Amino acid sequence: MNRYDTETITGYLEAEGYEETESNEAADLILLNTCSIRDKAEQKVYSQIGRLEKLKKTNPALKVGVCGCFATRDGEAIAKRGKAVDLVFGTQNIAKLPMLLEEMKERRVVDTEPIAPDFTELAPMARGGGLNAFVSIARGCDNFCTFCVVPYTRGPEWSKPSELIVDEVERAVEEGFREVTLLGQNVNSYGRKSPGELTFGGLMRRLNDVNGLERIRFMTSHPKDCDEDMVDAMGESPKVCEHLHLPVQSGADAVLARMERGYSADEYLEKVSLFRERVKDGVLTSDVIIGFPGERDEDFEGTLRVLREARYDNIYMFKYSPRPGTPAFDMTDTLPEEVLTERFEEASRVQREMTENLHAELVGGVQEVMVEGAVKPKSAPAGCAGCLNFADETDSNWYAGRSRGNHRVQLYAEGYTPEPGDVVEVKIMRGGVHSLAGVSPPSAVAMEEDA
Ligand code: SAH
Ligand code: SF4
Repeated sequence: MNRYDTETITGYLEAEGYEETESNEAADLILLNTCSIRDKAEQKVYSQIGRLEKLKKTNPALKVGVCGCFATRDGEAIAKRGKAVDLVFGTQNIAKLPMLLEEMKERRVVDTEPIAPDFTELAPMARGGGLNAFVSIARGCDNFCTFCVVPYTRGPEWSKPSELIVDEVERAVEEGFREVTLLGQNVNSYGRKSPGELTFGGLMRRLNDVNGLERIRFMTSHPKDCDEDMVDAMGESPKVCEHLHLPVQSGADAVLARMERGYSADEYLEKVSLFRERVKDGVLTSDVIIGFPGERDEDFEGTLRVLREARYDNIYMFKYSPRPGTPAFDMTDTLPEEVLTERFEEASRVQREMTENLHAELVGGVQEVMVEGAVKPKSAPAGCAGCLNFADETDSNWYAGRSRGNHRVQLYAEGYTPEPGDVVEVKIMRGGVHSLAGVSPPSAVAMEEDA
């Protein structure tokens, strides 16, 4: 989401005549797009501002701005503490940027006041390179999970009209993107507050018809809004990749209730079963918070049980970070750091084993991979050449890309040179924790085995 905001902000800046510079030293304007989801992210901002303060001494014309979630939460405090800061704006008034830049020429500006999104036309976007374009389909969140700052920093949920999303996706395809990732804090509650709007499943089906688009991804989905309509649309739309990121947060009912997530562990696992039934070769990932206030040993065991039963390909795991202003911040039964670390390490071990097993199961199968580009011979997967008689580890015929399930795949292209964006079949020969490796086309392996 932050990257999408950066691309939008860059789009506005380019429309105002700004150009990207090679270095901070050459810049007239530096904007820090900040995050406040955990405490660490906020601390980094102040050290960055300190560095820019020094740069301003050598270049007094330099203007410094701070935006993003942290700016929305603490704009005044940032301006007070960061003497170098000329501009602060929020996540919900990016569209005002051209006006704020004008104002900044005269005086210091702090404006984090939300404005309603303008859904009548597309914002100017300056997309990053690569094959995948981020497309935001909704803003904000209404869920108010008790640990989370997002509803405070990004405001209430607004779904972008589906016609505008289709326009944005078509425009990205015209610009050469082959894949889109639909973004929202809770993509699968899409349209629920807009009478007559498509459901999230309906949106996926509609986008599946966009010519020239190869793949559709999306994140993040909330378990409570994961329903048959969505899962069936995934299973039935060929362009929608079979990857579902479905954050569980905890596997203990008592903790889930205090987090106000709106589901029990068993209800969550029922959604997982639905996904497994309806989406062939589905890949599941998750977010887990370790050490929410009051998490008992048996609660943590519940989380380990979910890791084992859900069979996640991978998870993002976070130690609980108290965020001022959230209901959980006032919960007093926080856990000592040693307990958090111990549980974090144990959950990491369990997940690592799950990932290893799942990736080992993929060996011998064929994955459809979208090629991103060549990899340097020295970063080709060590030891993989050993499983192929013809591939040499120092050979330059190694490429990398993503499977439909979002695995990073390194592939040895036998007898041809794939281009970025090509979709190729790869016979998987090795499954590591972080990536898979194999040979394309798969027939090359069969020929090798026959020989
Ligand atoms: N809307 C998404 C997630 C947004 S934040 C969802 O509901 O799943 C991304 C992840 O950061 C969350 O899934 C959660 O695991 C983590 N997170 C959010 N607040 C946190 C906090 N206070 N401490 C630790 N992790 C947190
Ligand atoms: Fe935060 Fe996600 Fe919960 Fe919204 S649904 S409050 S973004 S964790």
